[in-house]
Amino acid sequence: MGVLSKTWLLILDKFIIPFGGEMARKWVRKRFLTPRALFQLQEGELQEHQRRTLEILNSLGLRPANNRAATQSAISEIGIALSELLGHDAEAENRRFGINFLQRYTGDMTIVELMRYLQKMDLRTLASVVKSVSKELCEDPAVRLISTRDVFSGLVQQAEVACQKLLQDANLIKQYLDHPKDVRVYQEASPLGCKGIDAPTHSVAEQREIREAQMQMKRVGRDTARQRCSRTHIVMSVAIGSGWASGRSPRYMVITAGNTDKSNLLIPSHTPVVVCEDGQWGYYGDPDAGPSSEIRSHWTMHERLAGAGPEWSGCRWIFHAHLVDLIDLSRRHSLLSSVRIGDRDVPNLDWTLHGTPTLGEQIAQAMTQHSSRVVLVKEHGPWFVAPDLGTAFQSAMDAVNTVRQL
Ligand SMILES: [Zn+2]
Repeated sequence: MGVLSKTWLLILDKFIIPFGGEMARKWVRKRFLTPRALFQLQEGELQEHQRRTLEILNSLGLRPANNRAATQSAISEIGIALSELLGHDAEAENRRFGINFLQRYTGDMTIVELMRYLQKMDLRTLASVVKSVSKELCEDPAVRLISTRDVFSGLVQQAEVACQKLLQDANLIKQYLDHPKDVRVYQEASPLGCKGIDAPTHSVAEQREIREAQMQMKRVGRDTARQRCSRTHIVMSVAIGSGWASGRSPRYMVITAGNTDKSNLLIPSHTPVVVCEDGQWGYYGDPDAGPSSEIRSHWTMHERLAGAGPEWSGCRWIFHAHLVDLIDLSRRHSLLSSVRIGDRDVPNLDWTLHGTPTLGEQIAQAMTQHSSRVVLVKEHGPWFVAPDLGTAFQSAMDAVNTVRQL
């Protein structure tokens, strides 16, 4: 690495990241670091047992114009290196990757199939993907399903467009999947209009409640960094205001913004306040950080729970994340309408399009009917509700720990 790059890395680590935040970091990386320096920066963050894979990648160089034939044999080597990390080939065959990435969702593929698929990628994408894969495999070889979204997580913010291309064409994955048409569109952020920066609340108490809720989201968001799930696709929301049970104003829903890393939320811009008056939806917050695409499902859940009697009206918080252990559990019992987690039967609902009132309706109904504050939705993930966010998040962690011990 050149002296100039090293100097920049030092400045980046010591000053820009701590004081300048994510935007500055991205700008500096883009402006001043060569692809190789960038890659070495990532390499510095890795653990010892991943170095073999990285050595192979490093030997490829990072120029997209690289010789395709040389790349392919190197990829086979990477596949072998990853299999070794797992213990042996048979297990690698059994491990499946759910293709649940950015806007696309479809079935799953084995690691061997994934390796074949990787051959179509440009090298920088490949480097990041392999890094994520080896990290996932090393951390917990027992989990069978890894969300491809998480596998690509290193790229989500750096190269979103390149990532999107990977799964845009169903034909690309046709050879690996029985049902290539089973590709569903997932939208991360809702295209709602921004009505202003601060919500014109009815009282100072509501204003304070909104701020406290945003701070709670930031705190719990930080804790999600250690969890096995996509950091982007976590949705937290809370119902604020006295009008929820009656369906009238004042009603506000603070919800996390789409396309944001929930382990590093900015307050208040990443926690917009959604309102719906006379059928008109809008939000207050940052014009560039629209609310999660789950607003309608979460709004409906808040509405139904508020009107479901004293046991539920206090459950104002919702926590949703693509926790891969729970998605895996739901998938293993895909024929059952409920699954056992610890000493509880948890509803395991059929897939419904995300972000729809129907989804919210079905989750809320399952919760109240089965007296369960957690519900799994097949091929999607779990929803937790509680009187406060800390409790909802803790229930999620307890469920994950219980499932891992099974
Ligand atoms: Zn989701």
